[in-house]
Amino acid sequence: MDCLFCKIISGEIPSDKIYEDDLVYAFRDIDPQAPTHFLIVPKEHIASADELEERHKELVGHVFLIAKKICAEEGLTKGYRIVNNCKEDGGQSVDHLHFHVLGGRSLKWPPG
Ligand code: 5GP
Repeated sequence: MDCLFCKIISGEIPSDKIYEDDLVYAFRDIDPQAPTHFLIVPKEHIASADELEERHKELVGHVFLIAKKICAEEGLTKGYRIVNNCKEDGGQSVDHLHFHVLGGRSLKWPPG
């Protein structure tokens, strides 16, 4: 499958990995929008949040717990933001489900 994030997960394309387990892979965003900006992606190729199914409930919960664990390790004691851009109007540019985690500065609201 010609998917950028599948290639990153397999190691075919290098990345700055920060975490990996059976379900997810986390790595630093190549174009960080905050002092800390990493992505958590499921290893299963799911095109977007709109393709999630009942069987993915545990996976999505796992993503949030891993985000919390990594943010603690990164020292983001003042908070952070977890973002999913879904499909065209949501601003998704890579068609493999991923959750942005941003922190290390005071983030503005609302996004654009
Ligand atoms: P989206 O716009 O789909 O929500 O987010 C895709 C993210 O992937 C962007 O923040 C972009 O900077 C990041 N990205 C795109 N290509 C690469 C890459 O080759 N390596 C890494 N580490 N991040 C990438």
